[in-house]
Order: sequence, then C-alpha cells, then structure tokens
Amino acid sequence: TVKSRVTVVGSGNWGSVAAKLIASNTLKLNSFHDEVIMWVFEEMLPTGEKLSQVINRTNENVKYLPGIKLGKNVVANPDLENAVKDANLLVFVTPHQFMEGICKRLVGKLRADAEAISLIKGMEVKREGPCMISSLISEQLGINCCVLMGANIANEIAVGKFSEATVGYRKSKEIADKWVQLFNTSYFAVTPVQDVEGVELCGTLKNVVALAAGFVDGLEMGNNTKAAIMRVGLREMKALSKLLFPSVKDSTFFESCGIADVITTCLGGRNRKCAEAFARNGGKRSFDELEAEMLQGQKLQGVSTAKEVYEVLRHRGWLELFPLFSTVHEICTHRLPPTAIVEYSEHNPKYS
Ligand code: NAD
Ligand code: 13P
Repeated sequence: TVKSRVTVVGSGNWGSVAAKLIASNTLKLNSFHDEVIMWVFEEMLPTGEKLSQVINRTNENVKYLPGIKLGKNVVANPDLENAVKDANLLVFVTPHQFMEGICKRLVGKLRADAEAISLIKGMEVKREGPCMISSLISEQLGINCCVLMGANIANEIAVGKFSEATVGYRKSKEIADKWVQLFNTSYFAVTPVQDVEGVELCGTLKNVVALAAGFVDGLEMGNNTKAAIMRVGLREMKALSKLLFPSVKDSTFFESCGIADVITTCLGGRNRKCAEAFARNGGKRSFDELEAEMLQGQKLQGVSTAKEVYEVLRHRGWLELFPLFSTVHEICTHRLPPTAIVEYSEHNPKYS
C-alpha cells in the first residue's frame, strides 16, 4: 500500500506538540512516511537566526516550545506551498485569525486526494453567519476536514502527561480511524465522535468561558464562583451549538472536547491567565497589550471569539439568551467592568 505523508500547517505551542506526537507515531507505523513536515511562519530570532533553521539544527522550537525535542523526523519548512505539495494528510493548527489568508494561498496547491484535520479553536463570522474553521478549510480547498479538540494544554502533553482528546468526523469512520491512529499514544487517548460541529464548537466556545473564569480569578472570587461560571458557560456552549447546528449531540459535551476542556482551560490556559491580569488591573489595560507582554508571541483566541460570538448573537437576536457570552465581550471591550461577570443571573436566561 501507498504510505501517507503528513504535513503540519502551524508551529506554535500546540502545533509543535502536535508535530511531536505525530512524528512519534509515523516512526512506528508502517502506513505513514517517517518524515513529518512542519510549516513554520518564518521569523527572525533575537540572535539574528531564522526560526525554521534553528528548529532544524536543534530539533526544538526554541520560541514556542523551548526545551522539548520534536523528534528527528520533524522537518521545519518555511515555504507554505512547498510544505504541503506532497502531503495527503494535512494537520491545520495555527491561531484561527490566520487561516483565511493561509487557505487563500493554498487553493490549487494541494494533492487531489488530500484529507485535512483542524486542531484550531475558533471561528470566522461571514455575512451569512458563523463559519467554523473546518468549513472554511473544506469549502475553500475542496477537501474533507475532521477536527481534533480536547482538554489539551500543550505544555503538559509535551512532557508526556496523560490526556484525552476527541476527533470529530462527518461521514467516514475510516478516515476518523486514520486520524486516531496518527495521534493516539500511550499518554494521548483519542476518541472519535460523529459530530464535527459539536466538537469544534466546544473547542471554540470554551475559550470565551475561560476568559470569564480568568476574570473571577483576577477578582479573587473563589472556587464556588468559578464553578458556577464553568456550569453556566457549558450550558451556553450547549445551547448555542444546538441553535446553530441542531444535529449537535448532547453526548459530545461529555467528551474530552466538552466538559474536560472547559475545566482544564479555566484552570490552566492562556486565556484564563490573561483575563486574570485584565481583571486585576480593573480592565484598564487592553488584551492586546497583555497578550504581547505575557505570551511572548503566542496568541489568545478567546477575545476575538467573544467578539465573533457576540456578532452572531446580535445578528440573530439571541443576546439575551447568552448573558455569559455577551457579558464577556462587553468586559473585553471595556463597556462593562470585570465585576459584571457574576451579574449574568439578573438577566434571567430564557433557555433551560
Ligand atoms: P501559538 O499561540 O503558540 O503561536 C502563535 C503562532 O502563530 C506561531 O506559530 C506564530 O509563528 C504564528 N503566526 C504569527 N503571525 C502569523 C501570521 N501572520 N500568519 C501565520 N502564522 C502566524 O499557537 P498554538 O498554541 O499552536 O495555537 C494554534 C491553535 O491551537 C489555536 O486555535 C489554539 O486555540 C489551539 N490550541 C492550543 C493549545 C495550547 O495549549 N497551546 C491547546 C489546544 C488547542
Ligand atoms: P488556551 O489557549 O487558553 O491556553 O487554551 C488551551 C487549550 O485549548 C487547552 O485545551
């Protein structure tokens, strides 16, 4: 049989860990070529060297995942078109705001039999409504796209601490199984679920909940308040997902991509961390500033997702149904103070 060739499009914190996981499996499994190409958005390091060259020399992503060897079979490539041209398995893992531009550059550049999976937590909002990143990929590039989401703080997986993840697929269980095979390791347990929209919306919307949890931390409101935020957040995630896509399954919210990702992100994620700093400063400093200062080039997804969700809610007349989601956006944009995060109950949500 013909061996599959994998390219990872993206090389941030999670992108680098994904490449490492995959590369450990391609070495073991006969159905994949050993080499894993990782597209690197090129940048100059303070040393004057190019990031892609340093990754290939040291086998480490010194900027986004320092101290972790990626595996000798990971090859960094800064040329996007060249990096994807031979791959039949494409793993997309960049901050979501860059995907539209990346897709435009990839039109007509892929193998005809290419299959994709998106690890990207986020969405775009078009005039017609929300467009999930997997739909952007499959519509713009004319390829099938699964998703992988879950309680997956990259730095923990990088050092082999156990976690679970969920693959969402649309039709073909065979393709879902191929992705599970590519990602599954002794410390990374992947479960396939036939619910792309549900899995992807979980991964996307939980970043808004994480901001709310961060506000609560910054205000030192304690564990009960934070648990309340997680509960209401999960309920809004489920309600919005089902309004947008009635096919979304209840059971998806009990997979790693649902409740587990809400918990881990509200405990240890970057969105939580920056939101905590935002609330501590009384909302006076902007998220852009905090992101640049605290994350050294890594990107927050929650602030733009809160805005995107708000646009969808306003457009559909659903703002009142989602007081937590809308309050998060109003806090991020300085229209409400961080303390407003616990005032959502006064809005008396009309769904159950
Ligand atoms: P990151 O935030 O660590 O890194 C930012 C990346 O964006 C870098 O690779 C940088 O080179 C790149 N970049 C900067 N400007 C760019 C541009 N103009 N065009 C293209 N790329 C550019 O990235 P990440 O953590 O790998 O996150 C990617 C996705 O994975 C996000 O949707 C995130 O929500 C999701 N995710 C992250 C984690 C995690 O723990 N880090 C876990 C699960 C999911
Ligand atoms: P942050 O982007 O908030 O760090 O969340 C990471 C994540 O998605 C964990 O599953």
